Amino acid sequence: MAAISPFETDNRGRPVSPAEVRTDRGRRIVLLPVMTFPGHRNNLYWIESEGGGILFDVGTPYGNAELERQVAAANSSFGTAIDLDRLQLAVLSHAHIDHFGNAQRFRDAGVPIAIHELDARVLECFVERLMLASRDVGIFLRQAGVREEVTARLLKVYRFEKTIFRELAPDIRLRGEDRIDETLRLLHVPGHCPGMICLAVDDVILTADHLLSRITPTISPQSITPFSGLEHYLRSLERLRRFDTFALGLGGHEAPVPDVHRRIDECVAHHTARLQRVEALCETPRTIAELSQTMFGEQKGYGILLALLEAGAHVEYLHQLGRLTIANIDDVADRFDLPVLYQNKLEAATI
Ligand SMILES: [Zn+2]
Ligand SMILES: [Zn+2]
Repeated sequence: MAAISPFETDNRGRPVSPAEVRTDRGRRIVLLPVMTFPGHRNNLYWIESEGGGILFDVGTPYGNAELERQVAAANSSFGTAIDLDRLQLAVLSHAHIDHFGNAQRFRDAGVPIAIHELDARVLECFVERLMLASRDVGIFLRQAGVREEVTARLLKVYRFEKTIFRELAPDIRLRGEDRIDETLRLLHVPGHCPGMICLAVDDVILTADHLLSRITPTISPQSITPFSGLEHYLRSLERLRRFDTFALGLGGHEAPVPDVHRRIDECVAHHTARLQRVEALCETPRTIAELSQTMFGEQKGYGILLALLEAGAHVEYLHQLGRLTIANIDDVADRFDLPVLYQNKLEAATI
C-alpha cells in the first residue's frame, strides 16, 4: 500500500517541505510545495519515469526560486535526481493560472507540455479567452445584481492575469481516458474547470483541484464557461468514486487526502446542504448578489467574485432542476442587464 514520508506544514496545515510517496508498486512521487502567488500555495508533483520524470502542474514564475529549493531538498533527503530541465513531460491538471502560469519556462527548456483538449485553448488563445470570459462574467454580475462600480472593479481584477502569461500552443492534447504511459491513467473530471484531469499512479490518485483535503473548489456557472458548473462537478465526483479505490489522494493544494471516498462523500454533503440553504433563502425573491452576501458575508478583492460565482453556480443548478423560478420574468425577458430575482418553487406556487 502507498506510503508517504513525514513533511512540515504551515499553520493552515499546508505542506511546506517536500514529501516522498511510494506507490504499492514502488513507484516514486515527490510532492513539491511552492508559493505561486503571495499567500497562495500549490503542490507540484514529480513522478518517477524512465525518461527523466514527469511533472504534474508547473506553478507560476513567482514560485521558481522556492521550487529550486524544494527540488534540492528532495534530492538530498530522498536520493532522487530530479532535474527540472530534463523532464520527459509536464502535464497540466487544468487551465487555472496557479497551475499552468510557469509553462513557458519548461517549454523553453524543451519539455513537452500536455493538457486536456478542453483547456488547451486557454493556453493557446489566452488573451481572447480571458477577454471573452470577462465579458461573460460582466453579464453574469449585472444579472446577479452587483453594483456597476463593483462590477468594473471585479473585472479589472479578473483581467489582471493577462499581464503574466505569454500564449503557447500545448504539445499534447489529452482526451478523457488517455494513458500517459503504461501505468499513468487519466480521468477527465470537468466541473471546477472544463479540462480538469486527475492522474492515477498505481494506488495513488493525483486529484489536483477536483478533490482537496479541507476546502471544496470554487464552482462557476456553466453560463460563463461550458463544462463547468455544479452538475458537471457532482457528476465528476461520482466518476472519481467509480474509477477505482485508492490508498492516497494528492491534491493541488493543502495536505494529502487519506480517504478519497470519504472525502468525496463530504464534498457531496457540503454542496447538498448549500443547495438546500439557497432554496430556503429564496422563500422571498432574491438576487445572486443578495444570496452571496447572506451566505458568505463581507468578502474582499477576488474573494467577492469567488463568492458570487459559487452562489451563482448553485442558483443555476437549482433553476435548471426547476426548484427555483424567476420572480421578475416580465422585467428580465428582454433586458439581459437587469438583476434577476429567484424564488423557490414552493413559495411561488402559493402566490
Ligand atoms: Zn483551479
Ligand atoms: Zn488551484
